[in-house]
Formats: sequence, C-alpha cells, structure tokens
Amino acid sequence: MTRLLVVDDEPEICEFLKTFFEDRDFQVETAGSGEAALKSAETFCPQVILLDIKMGDVDGLEVLKKVKQANPKVKVIMVTALETTDKIEAAMRLGADNYITKPLSLEYLENDVREKISSLAAKP
Ligand SMILES: [Mg+2]
Repeated sequence: MTRLLVVDDEPEICEFLKTFFEDRDFQVETAGSGEAALKSAETFCPQVILLDIKMGDVDGLEVLKKVKQANPKVKVIMVTALETTDKIEAAMRLGADNYITKPLSLEYLENDVREKISSLAAKP
C-alpha cells in the first residue's frame, strides 16, 4: 500500500484528502504544520507528499528542502492557492516533483500521485 502524507494547515483539506485517498487504498497520514510534517516524514516514511506551500510555522518550501535532503527519492507535489509564481518556481528549483493549485482538481491530483508512484517503481 502506498504511503501518502498530506500536509496542510487547513484541517478540512487534510481530512478531505485523507478520505479521498483512503477510499482509493492509500495509507494516509496528515500533518497540520511544517513541524508535524517533518516529524511524520521521518516516522511514517511516505512515498509521496502533498505539501501546502503556505503554512504558519515552517512553510512548505522549508519542509520540501528538508525532506528532499533526508530522502531524495520521496515524491513531493506542492499544493498552493493562487500563489505568486516565484514561490512555485522556488519549489521546483528545490526539487519539487510537481505542483497543483487550489481549488483542487481531484482527478488531476489522483492521476499525478499515481504517475509519481509508477515512476518510483520504474527506477532501480
Ligand atoms: Mg495553507
């Protein structure tokens, strides 16, 4: 079962995405802050992370940097409200695997998560 970590400081989004992906046989953990995300990245070892850019404490870019340092293979999809494009560009430079803007297209998101998983499986 694929382990997916959902990180967002809005609890409704975490809950919604958790239900959505659990219904599709993912094992899902959620984190409501950057700090919690870093902890969960260590203990839960997700293969894919959905990562909100804008958060109160440690922001998504900081979390991205740290999780990629600890595990370069983890796939990270940035999730953002209509953000200034420079944050998205910064995230891609830091090694983000893709990004999606809110309001979320669940079909797009699910396809992208599945694509990231198959690219993980394809690599030696
Ligand atoms: Mg947010």
